[in-house]
Amino acid sequence: MAIKSLVGQVGVDVAGKAHNCQANSKHRIEKGDTRLKVRNGRSWSHYCCACAKTIISKDILKLTELKKLEVSQASTS
Ligand SMILES: [Zn+2]
Repeated sequence: MAIKSLVGQVGVDVAGKAHNCQANSKHRIEKGDTRLKVRNGRSWSHYCCACAKTIISKDILKLTELKKLEVSQASTS
């Protein structure tokens, strides 16, 4: 792969068994539910659809900012 992706280690899959969302333990992911998976070291973190949409929306905003290729305030100090 010549071009590196910033979002290569994420995907969507279906829960093989019921478990809690890893962003909020009050969110229950049932067996068969669609979930977002994000690479976390050697394993994967899984998030429910509601959290997935929040995470993805935030990242779209971040990527949109990054696309401007402007040096952020934090990096100039
Ligand atoms: Zn959740």
